[in-house]
Amino acid sequence: LQENIDKAECHLARFKEKGVLNRIGGEDIPAADNATFETISPVDLKPLAGVAHGKAADIDRAAKAAQAAFPQWAETPGDARKKLLHKVADAIVARAEEIAFVECMDTGQSLKFMAKAALRGAENFRFYADRAPEARDGKSLRTDGQVNITTRVPIGPVGIITPWNTPFMLSTWKIAPALAAGCTIVHKPAEFSPLTARLLIEIAEEAGLPRGVWNLVNGFGEDAGKALTEHPLIKAIGFVGESRTGSMIMKQGADTLKRVHFELGGKNPVIVFADADLERAADAAVFMIYSLNGERCTSSSRLLVEASIYDKFTAIVGEKASRIKVGHPLDPETVIGPLIHPVHETKVLEYMEIARSEGATIATGGHKVDGPGGGCYVAPTLFTGANNRMRIAQEEIFGPVLTAIPFKDEAEALALANDVQYGLTGYLWTADVTRAFRFTDRLQAGMIWVNSENVRHLPTPFGGVKSSGIGRDGGDWSFDFYMETKNVAFAT
Ligand code: NAD
Repeated sequence: LQENIDKAECHLARFKEKGVLNRIGGEDIPAADNATFETISPVDLKPLAGVAHGKAADIDRAAKAAQAAFPQWAETPGDARKKLLHKVADAIVARAEEIAFVECMDTGQSLKFMAKAALRGAENFRFYADRAPEARDGKSLRTDGQVNITTRVPIGPVGIITPWNTPFMLSTWKIAPALAAGCTIVHKPAEFSPLTARLLIEIAEEAGLPRGVWNLVNGFGEDAGKALTEHPLIKAIGFVGESRTGSMIMKQGADTLKRVHFELGGKNPVIVFADADLERAADAAVFMIYSLNGERCTSSSRLLVEASIYDKFTAIVGEKASRIKVGHPLDPETVIGPLIHPVHETKVLEYMEIARSEGATIATGGHKVDGPGGGCYVAPTLFTGANNRMRIAQEEIFGPVLTAIPFKDEAEALALANDVQYGLTGYLWTADVTRAFRFTDRLQAGMIWVNSENVRHLPTPFGGVKSSGIGRDGGDWSFDFYMETKNVAFAT
C-alpha cells in the first residue's frame, strides 16, 4: 500500500503545484476571471488541486474554438481519424497506471476496478476508431423515377457533461464516438473529480489531435454546465448524471433547440427466483451493488427475492457483504473505498436513518467506517424487511447500500420491479427459460442481463427508459446521436 501511495503522490504532484487549467484551442487557460475552486481527495479530505472555475465567458471561448476547428475535423478522412484515435488508445494504455492512481485519489474508487477502467477507456477509443471510416455510410433507396442516397454528416460542435463516479471511463465513452463521427467537443467534467479529464485531453493532443477539436472547461453545473447547454454554437449535449439535472438541461437547451442524449439515474432490480443458481446469483448481486462503491448507474440497488428463499438468500448476501474489504482505494485488496465527498457521504448515511424510521431492518452495515485517512468510508449495507413503498426502495442512494424485498410469485416480482420511476438495468436469475423470455419482455429497463452480472459488449445499445435516460450509446447508436442523417433524391 505504501508503495502505491508514494506513486500516487508522484502522479499528483503536478496537480498540487500547478493546479488544473482549462484547455481551449490547444492552450492552457485560466478561467476568464481567474477564479479557481479546490478539489479534495475523499481519502483524507485534503486538497488535491486548485481548478479553473470556468463560467459563461470560458464556455463561449471554448465553443468558438470548437466551431473554428469543426470544418477541418469533419472533413478529415475516416482512415486518418481511425489512426489518430488508435494512437489515443495506445497512449491511454501507456499511461494506464498514472490514470488509475489519479482516479483512485480523486474519486475514492478502488484500484482493483480503476486499473481496469483505464484500460476500458482505451477499448472505447479503439472500438470507435475502427468504426470511424464507416460513420458517414448510408444506403440507397430506389423508386420509379428516383434514386435516393442517404448519408450521415457530423452534427457540429457538441457539449459533453460527465459525472463524478467513474469520470475517466465515462468521458472516453462519450468523447470517442463524437470524435469518430467528426464532431468537435467542449467537455465539462464533474467538479468533484476533475483530474483525469485533464489527463485525457493531454493524451489526445499528444497523440496528434488538432488544436480546438477537443476543449476542456472546468466548473460547476449551474454556471459552466448551464452556459454550455445554452450556447448557440453547440448543437447537441451528451449528458451523464442525475435525472433531475437531465430535466434542467432539457429546459436550458430549449431556446437553442439542443439535441440531447441522457444517461441518468437508476434503481435497478436484481430478481432472484427460487430455481436460480443461488450461489452465483448471490455473488453477482454482491458484485453489482458493492463494486465501484455502489456509485455506479447500473448497480443493482434493489434485491427482489422469491419469498420461499428470501431469508436464506439474504443471509448469504449479508454474510458475503460483511466480508467485503473497505479501505484505502490504493490497497490492492480494497473493494470499497471512500465515497466521493462528505456531502455525498452524509446523503448516503441519512438513508440508514430513513431505513430505521420506515421499519426496515439493517441486516449488515448501516454505519460509517473509520478508514485510513479518516475519509468518507461507509460499510457495505443490506436492508431487509423492506417493501416497495419505502424511500429506500424508490430513491437512488448511489452508495454501497442494497434494499431486499420479498415477492410471492412472478406477477408480483414484475410489478415490484417496474414500480419505480427508473428503468436503466435489470438482472434476472432463473433456470426457467420460458419465464426469462416472458419476464424480460415485460420488464421496463433499457438493458437486462439474464443469469449474469453486468458484462458490457460494446456493440450493444446502452441506455435507459423512463427517468433513466433518453437515447442509446454503443455500436452505431452513438453515431446516430452525433450525426445528422441527410437524404438526396436524384431524378432518373
Ligand atoms: P449530476 O447530475 O449532479 O452532475 C453531472 C454533471 O452535470 C456534472 O458535471 C455537473 O457539474 C453537471 N451539471 C449539474 N447541474 C447542471 C446544469 N444545470 N446544467 C448543466 N450541467 C449541470 O450527477 P453526479 O452527482 O455527478 O453523478 C451521479 C449521477 O449520475 C447518478 O444519478 C448516476 O446514476 C448518474 N449516472 C448515470 C450513468 C448512466 O449511464 N446512466 C452513468 C454514471 C452516472
